[in-house]
Amino acid sequence: MKQLKKMKSFLSLSWEASPGYIILLFINALLESTRIVINIILPKYLIDELLGNKDTKLLLILGASIIISNVIFKFIENLMKKQLTMGRMKLEEKMSQIMASKIMNVEFSYLENPYYLDLKERAVFAINNQNALENIIVGITNILRDLITIFSLIAILFSLSWALVVLLLITIGLNLWIYSTFAEYQQKFFQSIIPINRKFGYYMGLSWQDKPQKDIRLYNMAPMLTQRVIDYNQELMDEFQIFYNRLGKTQGLYNVINVLQASLAYGYVGIRVISEKFGPSISIGSFTMYVNAAINFSQTTTKLGENITMTFQMLEYLDPFMEFVSLPEAREHGGELEMEDEIHSIEFKNISFKYPGSDKYVLKNISFEINGGEKISIVGLNGAGKTTLIKLLCRLYKPSSGEIFVNGHNIYDYEYKSYMEKIAIIFQDYKLFAFTIGENITCEEYSEDKNIMELIEEVGLKEKINSLPKGLNSLMGKSYDNEGVELSGGEEQKVAIARALYKDAPLIILDEPTSALDPLAEAEIYEHFNTMVQGKTAIYISHRMSSSTFSDKILLIENGEVVDFDSHKNLMKKEDSLYYRLFMAQAKNYQLDMVIQ
Ligand code: ADP
Repeated sequence: MKQLKKMKSFLSLSWEASPGYIILLFINALLESTRIVINIILPKYLIDELLGNKDTKLLLILGASIIISNVIFKFIENLMKKQLTMGRMKLEEKMSQIMASKIMNVEFSYLENPYYLDLKERAVFAINNQNALENIIVGITNILRDLITIFSLIAILFSLSWALVVLLLITIGLNLWIYSTFAEYQQKFFQSIIPINRKFGYYMGLSWQDKPQKDIRLYNMAPMLTQRVIDYNQELMDEFQIFYNRLGKTQGLYNVINVLQASLAYGYVGIRVISEKFGPSISIGSFTMYVNAAINFSQTTTKLGENITMTFQMLEYLDPFMEFVSLPEAREHGGELEMEDEIHSIEFKNISFKYPGSDKYVLKNISFEINGGEKISIVGLNGAGKTTLIKLLCRLYKPSSGEIFVNGHNIYDYEYKSYMEKIAIIFQDYKLFAFTIGENITCEEYSEDKNIMELIEEVGLKEKINSLPKGLNSLMGKSYDNEGVELSGGEEQKVAIARALYKDAPLIILDEPTSALDPLAEAEIYEHFNTMVQGKTAIYISHRMSSSTFSDKILLIENGEVVDFDSHKNLMKKEDSLYYRLFMAQAKNYQLDMVIQ
């Protein structure tokens, strides 16, 4: 059954995360059920002794055993409760870590795919908001306890009559059948509400997030957003109404069978006291024991049913988490080859690419070659495919066909980490974090002995850093520190450039790095850039054509195809080419920019 499989994979994940906790859970379940069984067996001997020989010593021993065993069991259970709470917290923490590590290591393409983005959101939601982990763990412990109890009770009842046990097993079989039918329905139900849940989650999320708040205010979108949330919530409520109706009916039927079960057991045990028709008559003590066993049997099967439903329901909630954590990681795709420290050549050979889930080829049969140490500009209109090309080179996406060679080897032959270490890139949408400026540049604990001031000067940040009381130790942004610094867009870009340069990789890529810079800052950076990246292979993607004048070659991309690959000088000779038109158009604007400045 699917649900059992899910439970198994959840347990194996939990076992990997915290084996000690799982063992503790098992011991706890065993203790609880042992206590129940002891309380059923020992009173039989006490009652029989009371009604029979009345041996004071034996009575005292039996009475004391009942009390002491209960005290000891309760004491241990309470002691374990604290350990279990701690263990559960630790397991939840571990699961969050597993999730975080998966997000940071999963094949990148999943993180731009709407289905998986949504899956990720739902996975995080299940862990953070639905208490799914806690409920499943508690549920599984209870199921375990109930099962052990039921089997022990069956053993007790077996000593009275195998026929009774067979009858009881039939009723349990009936109950299991009722629940497995319901579980199947339950699974379908939760699948069916996913689309509504996703929409509900999306609009709900919008109202919570910080980023949309500016637009929400300025366009007064709150009423529309609230209405959407209410509508989808109502739709969910309607669906759940149907679900709970069916759950109610199922539980009703289950309870009828339980009553039947109890009457059967009571009736049979009663008959065995007053008549010898089904076997030798039993003592009052045995009667108490068997009746107790029967009552507990019936109660425990009811509880078992409830626990199974609750756990399976929670497993459904946790589904996105389980699916997300089983996605393949980027490092899994790649060979063992150690990447050299230098770049001798980069070759794109017949590369075509379409994004997952899309039919449109974004890159079409692209071929070109770059020699080590060259500075290349990639130029093309918006949406031409420039960034996509870089994403393929950085192994964020796999080409749909064709191969990319670096130093003569397919880039996927290289061991993942060793390859990634050799590329420094500043993406259009680079991110800086609430670490200090120094940490944002070095990407590790920053200390003064890491001499980065020279680098800071090269990127034009020296004055700014010197003006800050804490210098490179200033925290970026005010999110977590009132004394944090808010840098301008241009300054932030310079920090990002410093970070890429600090990595000191043989291949450096700038994807429109200067879009937030004013023309003067841009000129300043580019003036220095070629000296900064001396000896390295550099690829620039820039809408401002100025970068192309000091590149060795320009790769001109139009609609995902290479239309030219030549030097600026040669390209400018072709006055009817796209390059010429782009360059001339921007040259005009650029001059205008300078005048306005
Ligand atoms: P450029 O960098 O030249 O502006 P891109 O490489 O970013 O162009 O985009 C090329 C095309 O690929 C565009 O049509 C864009 O809409 C599409 N595209 C970009 N990213 C994705 C994505 N994650 N999923 C689907 N299509 C995408």
